[in-house]
Amino acid sequence: MGYVSNTDKVIHKRPTDTSSIRTLVIDDEEFQRTVLENYLTKFGYRACTVSSAEEALDFCQSLTPDLILLDLNMPGVNGIEACKQLKAIDRLSSIPVIMLTGMKDSESIRQSFDAGASDFLVKPVNELVLKQRIEYAIYSSELQKRLNKKEQELTVAQKLARIGTIEIKHKYRSVVISSNCEDLLGFSTHTLHLSYDQYISHIHPDDVDHLIYTLNRAFDERHGYIVEYRFINNNDEYIVYQKGEYIETSDNNEDHSYLIGSLQDVTEDRHARENLDYSKYYDSLTDLTNRSFFEMQIQHIIQHPPTEALFAIIFIGLDNFTRVNDAAGHKGGDEVLRTVSNRLINYETEGHTVSRFGGDVFTMLIRNIHHIDECNTLLDQILQHIKQPIHIDNNDIYITASIGASVFPLESEDGNQLLIGAEAAMMLSREEGGDRYTYRTHHMNTETQKRLTLLKEMRSAIDNYEFSVFYQPQIDACSMQIVGMEALVRWIHPLKGIISPSDFIPLAEESGLISKLGDYVIRRACSQTRCWIEAGHSLIVGVNISAVQFESDDFVDYIMQIIDETGLPACNLEIEITESMAIKNPQQTIKKLQQLRALGVKTSMDDFGTGYSSLSQLQTLPLDTLKVDQAFVKNIRKIDTGEKIPEYENSAIANAIIVMSHNLGLKVIAEGVETTDQCRFLQQQKSEILQGFLFSKPLPAEELENLLDREKQQATNWSSILTKD
Ligand code: C2E
Ligand code: MG
Ligand code: MG
Repeated sequence: MGYVSNTDKVIHKRPTDTSSIRTLVIDDEEFQRTVLENYLTKFGYRACTVSSAEEALDFCQSLTPDLILLDLNMPGVNGIEACKQLKAIDRLSSIPVIMLTGMKDSESIRQSFDAGASDFLVKPVNELVLKQRIEYAIYSSELQKRLNKKEQELTVAQKLARIGTIEIKHKYRSVVISSNCEDLLGFSTHTLHLSYDQYISHIHPDDVDHLIYTLNRAFDERHGYIVEYRFINNNDEYIVYQKGEYIETSDNNEDHSYLIGSLQDVTEDRHARENLDYSKYYDSLTDLTNRSFFEMQIQHIIQHPPTEALFAIIFIGLDNFTRVNDAAGHKGGDEVLRTVSNRLINYETEGHTVSRFGGDVFTMLIRNIHHIDECNTLLDQILQHIKQPIHIDNNDIYITASIGASVFPLESEDGNQLLIGAEAAMMLSREEGGDRYTYRTHHMNTETQKRLTLLKEMRSAIDNYEFSVFYQPQIDACSMQIVGMEALVRWIHPLKGIISPSDFIPLAEESGLISKLGDYVIRRACSQTRCWIEAGHSLIVGVNISAVQFESDDFVDYIMQIIDETGLPACNLEIEITESMAIKNPQQTIKKLQQLRALGVKTSMDDFGTGYSSLSQLQTLPLDTLKVDQAFVKNIRKIDTGEKIPEYENSAIANAIIVMSHNLGLKVIAEGVETTDQCRFLQQQKSEILQGFLFSKPLPAEELENLLDREKQQATNWSSILTKD
């Protein structure tokens, strides 16, 4: 509108452009209508006139005036009634109405205001006064509109932030909560007037004292306050964050001070924070505290060591827990862990701390030991306690534990050393058959110590990106072209250099770290291969899968997700499993391999011949490929017989495996091909694919890429090596 400045911030009292403002005169006297119309036109407004309330209502059906001049005394529907009727129409409710009255009696003026009029003028109307009153009425109406808009915006904002206002009056001991408190605290009214006692009755009993103390202090010391408490309404509990200012006012020397401020429903936020804190320090399976919490406790006790007692850190590992998982399934395994944790938690009543460190390992901080015998008795008790049968699904499961202990300050005064010592001692108990406890001593086996250090380093190595995936090319035995590669993980240790997987994979499997590591390898291998395929190479990537990964219930879904996320076509991925994994649970293995093949993923049996699977078992497995272990390749040598067709020694097993695989319709990959003799023998036996140092060592991705780029040249080179002698 013209009278609102362009900056949309300042409202001029005086409309600058009045031509768009539509005014309506309602008067039964024609003379009055004409006079007023002339004035209005002179002021620059658009003026319309009607002679009765009925006509006015008619007019307003199609047009909305910005201001109405209304005669109070009209026959039929008088001005006051007309004003009420007009104001009852939603669209017109905020339009300023100036009542024109012939008399100066205060009763009619009051009635006019009650009916919704915003001003009145006594007839005959003075031109100048009329002009000013109209300007003012329009200005006020515009201001009101803007305030309404701001209030609406504020209400929306408050609603989103779940904020309301709260006013607490000291003298009247009353509380007013307003602005969407119906959404906020579950009340049905927009504004809530409560007596102070009513307000307090909604507060959680445990929070009442604190709230009263805070509010009293704010009044006594005349300053603001912040308080958080639980508000209860209709059995629902809200967590309220309240912040207020002290306002001092007095009237006739009477104290009218009050506290005004905001109140916010922070229930969701606090619950989310609790959950966050909970998952940070608690184990979700057993509800015991977790490793982070336990380590914090150790740091704390080391900083404030007891003066008259010793304390011990103990590691409790369940013996052969994988067997429990195999026998009772993962759910049964979880149940066993929960039962053991329930048994251990009893020791907390004696002041000790119990945590689950991860997997099947629990830890305890045993306090208040005065003599090592006391500790021995306790450890014996724990062993006995764990040994009690665990009843699951009508079966009794028997489990034992290996305990390792290190005592402060006898063993060390350093928290980390105590933890490492207790873990090493637990491993020693395990190695000695389990169901026993061992104290960490200075003479502890160095091998155990080394493994522990490696385990510790491995934990941080994953987060420090010290692992890398190398690729060993696989060569088609006829064309000598690269047709695929095996992804092999490498640990690039910052001090020790490249560490071989055989040195850390078993430890990663034992400690459960393999899941995270394996996930990294398969994702990396799949995305990398997708890039090479997009660059025009035709390749299948073989990925070694650990038993821990393969045994998980959702393994097939997981692979599906990887394919989906990395964009590698399923047929370009080959999953390598080993015999021991396959024969552990043959039914499950068959099912999973079938499902994988249904997705298009290829399946392969790695290191064949080193496990204990039988031929008949191999027959039942849905496989695409069999990999002959390097043990059966490495000793193959040509015998100089002088005959045209060469003969090879130590080749019988490799020969048998290849023949058998072909009979079963499997493709053969021969591993560990190091010499031209071995290569020729394998070609002669029609092994389809060759892999070994003769062709290439496992290479970092960039180097394999170089090899792929000069593939034709490379194939010729490899062929020529074979034809040399
Ligand atoms: P594997 O799956 O049988 O892998 C083949 C191994 O043979 C690799 O050892 C490779 O470097 C080695 N090799 C290849 N050609 C020759 C050769 O001509 N001569 C000799 N002497 N060796 C050769 P690497 O990389 O040390 O891996 C050892 C094992 O570690 C692998 O055996 C596999 O079982 C495991 N592994 C490697 N990467 C992973 C992985 O990402 N996940 C899992 N779960 N296991 C892996
Ligand atoms: Mg392999
Ligand atoms: Mg192998």
